[in-house]
Amino acid sequence: MLKGKVAIITGSTSGIGLGIARRLAASGANVVLNGFGDAAEIEAVRAGIEAEFAVKALYSPADMTKPDQIKGMVDLAVTTLGSADILVNNAGIQHTAPITEFPAERWDSVIAINLSAVFHGMQAALPHMQAKGWGRIVNIASAHGLVASVNKAAYVAAKHGVLGVTKVAALENAESGITVNAICPGWVLTPLVQKQIDALAAREGISIAEAQVKLLSEKQPSKQFTTPEQLGDLTVFLCSDAAANIKGASLPVDGGWTAQ
Ligand code: NAD
Repeated sequence: MLKGKVAIITGSTSGIGLGIARRLAASGANVVLNGFGDAAEIEAVRAGIEAEFAVKALYSPADMTKPDQIKGMVDLAVTTLGSADILVNNAGIQHTAPITEFPAERWDSVIAINLSAVFHGMQAALPHMQAKGWGRIVNIASAHGLVASVNKAAYVAAKHGVLGVTKVAALENAESGITVNAICPGWVLTPLVQKQIDALAAREGISIAEAQVKLLSEKQPSKQFTTPEQLGDLTVFLCSDAAANIKGASLPVDGGWTAQ
């Protein structure tokens, strides 16, 4: 379905981003991977996607705190693969602490990676999409883009901001073949969430398995994790013709978290 399209997925060396990159590649898109990690492991993932799905896969080491590197990642897609048709702004980090104890530099880095990088990525990619009259931007926000939790000031602020800038970008391109939407996952079992489960287990003196159940029970009525593959399939749908008139939407995939 996406054969010949070029998709850039930020933060795709791990977790949700990797799940989305694999589903886009399975649909025929050439992909630009991005994120941090062990160079040999990243190369194995990149080469594995090329072999498994018969597409081209590139790796960009762009740091999402650096606007010039974000533009460089988009330029790499255009110069090497020919276009920048799909942008999935997924890279994100978390830091938890009450506001009174929240380190200012952690606030700055969460806002930079989770929010400002979304703006810089769209600013770099939109001119290419506008020139072609077609594009898809999928911003990975969070249930925390819709509701708040304690101790997540920077994350909640950034994710609410992502929903705002998603709507602005959707409206600015409403009459074109470009759509801009956000996905709002609840709990997905990735390294980002595993850290929170480990911290909960240590804090309460319970097992990892018990901490998983406790974490889910507090917020997610389905008591099931969403999977990166499910989010990948939703992203592929948003890239399809069927989704051409979905513009500026915020789609929860949260097991009922924000229905409460
Ligand atoms: P993860 O930690 O598994 O992956 C994060 C990715 O971002 C990695 O590839 C990492 O290398 C990359 N990254 C981090 N800092 C970067 C930087 N400065 N520049 C470039 N890449 C960078 O996390 P995840 O759970 O897969 O989260 C992905 C996205 O989904 C995030 O935006 C997160 O907020 C969002 N999200 C996750 C959950 C969840 O339950 N896991 C829920 C809602 C939203």
